[in-house]
Amino acid sequence: MIAHKPRATPTGHIPRRRFGQNFLVDSRVVHNIVAAIDPQPDDTLVEIGPGLGALTEPLMARVNHLHVVEIDRDLIVRLRRQYAPEKLTLHAGDALTFDFGALGGASDRGDKRLRIVGNLPYNISTPLLFHLAGCADHLHDMHFMLQKEVVERMVAKPGEAAYGRLSVMLGYRFYLDWLFDAPPESFNPSPKVQSAVVRLTPKSAAERALCDIATLEKIVAAAFSQRRKMLRNTLKPLFATDELTALNIAPTQRAEDIPLAGFIALANQFSTRS
Ligand code: SAM
Repeated sequence: MIAHKPRATPTGHIPRRRFGQNFLVDSRVVHNIVAAIDPQPDDTLVEIGPGLGALTEPLMARVNHLHVVEIDRDLIVRLRRQYAPEKLTLHAGDALTFDFGALGGASDRGDKRLRIVGNLPYNISTPLLFHLAGCADHLHDMHFMLQKEVVERMVAKPGEAAYGRLSVMLGYRFYLDWLFDAPPESFNPSPKVQSAVVRLTPKSAAERALCDIATLEKIVAAAFSQRRKMLRNTLKPLFATDELTALNIAPTQRAEDIPLAGFIALANQFSTRS
């Protein structure tokens, strides 16, 4: 995603491609992200990938305490030097395996306010979103800067080219709001791609039709494994064609035509058999 050979930032740090380091340098974009998050003093706020602190500083100014998860050891040393532990807890490690749910999220008011934010490393954004979906029950919300193409896939509706596994699995857990776009010049180094900021707000159990998540994941993965193929072929190992018909799903339909409710119906049908 880095368009040219990385040069040292004004801080002396040389951006690392393998960690997807494109640092935010546009103060208006930073301001708009923080305004969209609207942090409250007693939020349990976690930033993924603080980097050189573009978002970290304005976030710390708004909350009593901030958690950050960073993988780059050089940046960790820098952050440790810069910020007092009373104000910032630094979790050195990989966000892909970090247990965000363990941070709890009960505020002084007793409600659930674990909030996760970040200008995410684009090279791991899809697996990271799947990992974070697993702690949806602990969350108040999440705000992320992502590659625009990933946001398109997240919010896509049935029948659209971008509709796929990410749209269905995130749509099951979250309300998704595409907030605004950011051009490549907002970052140093500038990426080749456009970026966008998205908000994910968990649906409560009452707001979603429930099904077994592992079964849903298995069916959605099979259906989209060859998205141009008919469901009677992609789902053959899992469903007989008359089962599809009984659920008002034509065996000749493709995964890209099936709304979330259809996949939930399939998961529940599968679960009644096993
Ligand atoms: N927040 C900073 C900003 O907006 O300028 C940096 C954003 S940069 C796109 C991504 C950040 O995520 C970098 O600091 C990078 O080192 C960190 N990062 C990359 N992979 C990571 C991982 N697996 N776990 C935690 N942090 C990671």
